[in-house]
Amino acid sequence: MTSSCIDIDSFIAYFTQKLSKKDREILENHLSCCDHCLEILATTTQVLDDETLSHWETISETRAQATLNKITEKIQKIKEFYQWSKEQLPPLWIKPSLQPAMVSVRSENEIFPTEHIFIQRAMNGLYTEMYIERSDDQLVSIKVRVLQDKKIAPRVCIIMERKGEGPSARALKHHYVSFNDLPFGQYRLNLEQDSVDKGEYIFEINEKGLYRS
Ligand SMILES: [Zn+2]
Repeated sequence: MTSSCIDIDSFIAYFTQKLSKKDREILENHLSCCDHCLEILATTTQVLDDETLSHWETISETRAQATLNKITEKIQKIKEFYQWSKEQLPPLWIKPSLQPAMVSVRSENEIFPTEHIFIQRAMNGLYTEMYIERSDDQLVSIKVRVLQDKKIAPRVCIIMERKGEGPSARALKHHYVSFNDLPFGQYRLNLEQDSVDKGEYIFEINEKGLYRS
């Protein structure tokens, strides 16, 4: 944050389209060089999206204030959860709509924190990529793909098991497999190819991030 950071009143004026053209330009110029304020804006668009508000101009000042309060909380959580994965974008095999909304605002090599973790790991000739996205306060969705010789590995089965629960197995048939809305906890990811065990990856995921066991 710098002394010229955008204050809440200016954000409200921006969302409610009450800024003059000149002030809007100043604000947008600042956004183009300040991670802190860009995060607020990016998160705002997510929150507004969550609440299915289709147009910013329909928001009342009270609503904008409430939204900003929520955003401040949400940003804090995002920071805690994703601070260590700040440099990473979702991989290309994730559909473009999941890419952070505001990335195009910034130069290509500057990326702000997003709500995801991307892990790559080699296991006995198989190259595994996991894209973990926080889907709710206590839930994550995990997409996994496995490559062999730079192509989708054939006859691979991906088994995800949360400690204390039964395993969930998916055959890798297309680009990737998804395990949706998994609660925080300890997990074991296990790969099989032709029914042969190819290795495992044990990790814990909670509101602070991901930890390897
Ligand atoms: Zn700023």
